[in-house]
Amino acid sequence: MRTALIVGAGIGGLAAGIALRRAGWRARVFERAAAPRELGFALNLAPNAVAALRTLGVAGRIEAEGHRTGTVELRRLDGRPLKRLDVAALDAPAPALMVLRQTVHGALLDATRPRISRSPATASASKRTAPLCGWSSPMDGASAATC
Ligand SMILES: Cc1cc2nc3c(=O)[nH]c(=O)nc-3n(C[C@H](O)[C@H](O)[C@H](O)COP(=O)(O)OP(=O)(O)OC[C@H]3O[C@@H](n4cnc5c(N)ncnc54)[C@H](O)[C@@H]3O)c2cc1C
Repeated sequence: MRTALIVGAGIGGLAAGIALRRAGWRARVFERAAAPRELGFALNLAPNAVAALRTLGVAGRIEAEGHRTGTVELRRLDGRPLKRLDVAALDAPAPALMVLRQTVHGALLDATRPRISRSPATASASKRTAPLCGWSSPMDGASAATC
């Protein structure tokens, strides 16, 4: 089985890990933060992003907790609209959603954690080495998850 090494357990890294796993790869995700977390507040997910999350099998909670985007507007500094797009009327394979970042990240982590290998943790001098999955890499004290 081929193995992919992914640096970063953000939305991108976790989604790539899940996609690779579904394609038959073994994926290891390395994260330098003590615990994987999502900075920021909300995300506007375009229809293709929601469709991709459905393909990964993680869209259920995201669609349940997200709010459907009706209209998107780009505005000038003075508030006058530059462009308006009726997203709800698009003939898209999935809806556009406004959702908390933690919800998206949490859904991806939930899909990753059950498959994390719990091989015995190795000691590390780095305080940044966190038990994301109980396996420490020699790379810069990062922790790793096996998707
Ligand atoms: C203000 C703002 C608003 C946005 N709004 C939207 C939006 O509405 N809709 C949308 O779709 N997108 C939006 N984006 C873009 C979206 O947030 C990013 O594309 C997405 O979060 C990137 O995810 P990522 O996993 O690639 O990177 P990140 O979330 O940055 O994750 C990278 C991870 O890699 C880790 N890392 C980095 N270096 C190393 C290393 N050397 N070793 C180990 N780990 C490492 C970091 O600790 C981090 O956890 C917005 C971005 C910004 C800044």
